[in-house]
Amino acid sequence: MGTGSCWNCHRVFYYEGGDELCPECRKTLSEKFRTVKEYIYDHPGVKIPDVTEACGVTERQVLRWLREERLYISDDSAIVLTCKNCGRPINTGMYCADCKRAFALAKRENRPDEVPAEDLMTEFTSRRSGRMRYLGKDKDKQ
Ligand SMILES: [Zn+2]
Ligand SMILES: [Zn+2]
Repeated sequence: MGTGSCWNCHRVFYYEGGDELCPECRKTLSEKFRTVKEYIYDHPGVKIPDVTEACGVTERQVLRWLREERLYISDDSAIVLTCKNCGRPINTGMYCADCKRAFALAKRENRPDEVPAEDLMTEFTSRRSGRMRYLGKDKDKQ
């Protein structure tokens, strides 16, 4: 608990944990998320610039939702998302199924060197809330 500054508009607000986003931006973003999601499903041929133009969001935001596995692109989509490790096309998230499996195995066998730092961070992703949590950024420790 305490104050935080919104990563989107940089306004200082009362921070209650989760995504460091002020209530106003949170509301705007969740509405935009719905718009983007529907737009992508309704228009499988669109590319990211079409989405940003039609929905009024930034490319970074669309990519963020894709990497957070909140948005999913179909196989015939014109949007290309690739595995950050091997470059293979994927539909959502950071890595392809094979790389994910390899990282999971490396973690289980305690070989963190073989796991990209980004993947270690996604352990703090709460899937249910769809919010990213990073170690050290989390000011909501009890
Ligand atoms: Zn804000
Ligand atoms: Zn891969």
